[in-house]
Amino acid sequence: MPRKAPGRLTRPRAVCLNGAMPDKDERWMQEALRVAQAALDADEVPVGCVVVHEDRIIGRAHNQREMLRDPTAHAEMIALTQAAGALETWRLGGCTLYVTLEPCAMCAGAMVLGRIERLVYGATDPKAGAVESVFRLLDEPRLNHKVAVRGGVLAADCGAVLSEFFRTKRAGDDAC
Ligand code: ZN
Repeated sequence: MPRKAPGRLTRPRAVCLNGAMPDKDERWMQEALRVAQAALDADEVPVGCVVVHEDRIIGRAHNQREMLRDPTAHAEMIALTQAAGALETWRLGGCTLYVTLEPCAMCAGAMVLGRIERLVYGATDPKAGAVESVFRLLDEPRLNHKVAVRGGVLAADCGAVLSEFFRTKRAGDDAC
């Protein structure tokens, strides 16, 4: 048995969650946050999403409901479509979806349909979240696919972008 040199710290092993390192999750979430911030310029609710496959972003979108005048134009839906286009298949096993806000029922449902392997999200959505807040779609035993989930990654930063957006909106409304 090799002895450890006294006083020398061995690098602690990061806790693995389905094979991904937490620090890597934070790195990708930072990217999703940057995408969310870009939504502010378009006056869209700032939710950002990236889909990662083999350490590469293959889907990247923010919410575009206003611009597209489409109730389904959530960040996750657009990023999922891009990812399927990049992989040339609707089966998105091996992909991790990062999104700044807990997905709604539509987006969580789309992740199940696309066989997304893993979801990482930031802030919870007490009004519409379908992972833990309002529904728990991703660990629903009657569905034929389970998505591994990690929530709360950079939650404060993700939530702050949204709070700031709605605070500014309200201030604007009051001024009218
Ligand atoms: Zn959604």
